[in-house]
Amino acid sequence: AQLDTLDLVVLVALLVGSVAYFTKGSYWAVPKDPYASSAVANNAAKSGKTRDIVEKMDETNKNCVIFYGSQTGTAEDYASRLAKEGSQRFGLKTMVADIEDYDYENLDKFPEDKVAFFVLATYGEGEPTDNAVEFYQFFTGEDAAFESGATAEDSPLSAMKYVAFGLGNNTYEHYNAMVRQVDAALSKLGAQRIGTAGEGDDGAGTMEEDFLAWKEPMWAALTEAMGLQEREATYEAVFSVTEDELKTPEDDSVYLGEPTSAHREGAAKGPYSAHNPYVAPIVESSELFTVKDRNCLHMEISIAGSNLSYQTGDHIAIWPTNAGAEVDRFLEVFGITEKRHSVISIKGIDVTAKVPIPTPTTYDAAVRYYMEVCAPVSRQFVSTLAAFAPDEESKAEIVRLGNDKDYFHEKITNQCFNIAQALQSITSKPFTAVPFSLLIEGLNKLQPRYYSISSSSLVQKDKISITAVVESVRLPGASHMVKGVTTNYLLALKQKQNGDPQPDPHGLTYSINGPRNKYDGIHVPVHVRHSNFKLPSDPSKPIIMVGPGTGVAPFRGFIQERAALAAKGENVGTTLLFFGCRKSDEDFIYQDEFKTWQEQMGDSLKIVTAFSREGSQKVYVQHRLKENATLVSELLKQKANFYVCGDAANMAREVNLVLGHIIAEQRGMPAEKGEEMVKHMRSSGSYQEDVW
Ligand code: FAD
Repeated sequence: AQLDTLDLVVLVALLVGSVAYFTKGSYWAVPKDPYASSAVANNAAKSGKTRDIVEKMDETNKNCVIFYGSQTGTAEDYASRLAKEGSQRFGLKTMVADIEDYDYENLDKFPEDKVAFFVLATYGEGEPTDNAVEFYQFFTGEDAAFESGATAEDSPLSAMKYVAFGLGNNTYEHYNAMVRQVDAALSKLGAQRIGTAGEGDDGAGTMEEDFLAWKEPMWAALTEAMGLQEREATYEAVFSVTEDELKTPEDDSVYLGEPTSAHREGAAKGPYSAHNPYVAPIVESSELFTVKDRNCLHMEISIAGSNLSYQTGDHIAIWPTNAGAEVDRFLEVFGITEKRHSVISIKGIDVTAKVPIPTPTTYDAAVRYYMEVCAPVSRQFVSTLAAFAPDEESKAEIVRLGNDKDYFHEKITNQCFNIAQALQSITSKPFTAVPFSLLIEGLNKLQPRYYSISSSSLVQKDKISITAVVESVRLPGASHMVKGVTTNYLLALKQKQNGDPQPDPHGLTYSINGPRNKYDGIHVPVHVRHSNFKLPSDPSKPIIMVGPGTGVAPFRGFIQERAALAAKGENVGTTLLFFGCRKSDEDFIYQDEFKTWQEQMGDSLKIVTAFSREGSQKVYVQHRLKENATLVSELLKQKANFYVCGDAANMAREVNLVLGHIIAEQRGMPAEKGEEMVKHMRSSGSYQEDVW
């Protein structure tokens, strides 16, 4: 059938006399078997799951689908929240859908009396999240439907109503590019947007408030467009959580923190991926700082025998475990300490509800391994707890927190409380009435954290290095320190590895041995994510790297690689690193290694340092960059690649600006021209960022 279609298509092309017909004509005019090409589609078809959203909504009697394109879980969380609100406040029949689980070809059949939401995060340099790549290409890529030049009479999506919200970060150049482009593409195809295309800004730290401010007028517009009736929202659980007295945590079928069923059965095997982590041994770990009050970890993680591979410049994801102290607090606050080891079975009440936690499990395992219980708290989530407050006084306080943005900021956000700490600040009574389903719905899945690999795959293909600074921050006005989930867990692993029998960083305590002792002998679940942050394939090309603090991580890998090539007698181009930290004797990480590599590379390795707390004035990498304008400009003329890694909020932006100035000044051009050159370098891949 495929061949026939192809033949027909070719024939039509010949008849019309121009290949342009394909791109000018509507995509939907070409008959296409949606299951023909994609492997995912084939798998879905085999497993009996439909990839046809129109059919799925029909079958399950839904009139509202909320698609999410999510990388770290926030967009997915917003999608679930919109689904719940749509159903409880407006009686919509909602379903949440991972955008990669469906095909897009048949969106032209999307019925008029239904609505599709798109909640889309922008990742990195204006890119789609991993699960939204195909969707993005379908609508905006080279063969995209919207290239069709759809006109008024050629509006395949004219029946479709949609709602759009984007999650972005204004410190990146392509702010909310994903939602902007998708919105433009959909409207060009005739779809009708309801409300404005919302944009949340993580860079300004206003994501949650942007979302809350956007959704009210959107709901009003949707109510109007679909003739909905708002009603008093009452809580309806999305999941049924039942305690199974017949099972014990020792039963083989119970998940005690294992990421997948194969891990639970002790039969985990590759291919390892973001859905199937490899439980990797940490073979070495050490402290890089010389000061007592801050920690920076260097770890060597073995991937030997796993069939995982990496390339210099890639990322590794670490799957963390929550701190015991926070697990205890959470269970205490919700009154489930006594039954923490009871086995629970979690099921979606609606067929389309995906259970985000492996089940059956225990309360303890759910909180320790599967739920993000330490993250900042959303105002909307706190207000849903009012109905379950232990007394009238705390209920009134929660209602006030829910309604008064400034009050919420003062009492909760600025205090950097997690959910359990927030509730403890309201009352010492436990919130025993809160359904566990509400906690699963309101909190994210515990997310893996990414680290820029700090080794070279050429030098150590079976061992991945990471360089992680342990997060322990006191924000101004807050009464306690925020302890990062993953980095403090890694610190505990390092302490254990270095002989501490009971590692206890900052009194947090961890289940170091993991579920069923599977992580004993210092193991941690990981997966590798490939990146575009890459050395030039020709080592004789010069490179300029700007990486202060842990931003030096991938550059350690770059330099390790070029030093090895130089030692083999290859011609290695100038390798210029700008590194910055507080003091040369405190946090100048890897300085001994740099000395060794310097011996191998001679003059081709140049390291320029900026110590911010040594002189009377603070000096940062961007100042050093400016001082070395002539050298930088000279290297750029020799086609050097320029790399920036580390802090996205300030440093990367400054460096971008300074580079524009340098180019303009050195070449006698107006400032705008310099900026344009940097933009051009970005799009051609000679200016690369790895920032977070
Ligand atoms: P989290 O628990 O995630 O907390 C992170 C921060 O969030 C805290 O410091 C605090 O500011 C805030 N926060 C958390 N909870 C609260 C709360 N309740 N209230 C208010 N604020 C709160 N890091 C490195 O050290 N080295 C690297 O090489 C590196 N590479 C990266 C590469 C990429 C592509 C990305 C995306 C990130 C990279 N990071 C790197 C950052 C890393 O992924 C983690 O974000 C970092 O280690 C913190 O993780 P954590 O789990 O310890 O902290």
